[in-house]
Amino acid sequence: MGRRGHVHTVMLAVELDLAIIDVQHRMRIGTHAAILYMVNEGLRKNGYIDEPTYELFKARYSKPLKDILKEKREEENAPRCSWAEPKCRRIATVVMKRGDRVIPSCPKHLKEFQRYGYEVLEEA
Ligand SMILES: [Zn+2]
Repeated sequence: MGRRGHVHTVMLAVELDLAIIDVQHRMRIGTHAAILYMVNEGLRKNGYIDEPTYELFKARYSKPLKDILKEKREEENAPRCSWAEPKCRRIATVVMKRGDRVIPSCPKHLKEFQRYGYEVLEEA
């Protein structure tokens, strides 16, 4: 079974749905995040997951929607690697320079640019 094997459809009783809506409102998080946040809390409280696992998912599901949106916008506006065979478009982490030409590069294509005589101008 593929990745969908971990997808479950659950019916929440009205009382639980209202409580989840309250969690969403108080934490400013989405519906799925609120449900998974509370599942994580319940599994920890009953000793089914260890502390590192709890902390990992707590951080993941408690992120406010406005922060997720901000991260998404920053990612959309990030400079992209200009390696073109095939078109890369990964987020650039380094600015390369050869003569007057300045271009962004992802970590994967750094060596390719250097083979064409580009040097690292700055790390992003
Ligand atoms: Zn690249």
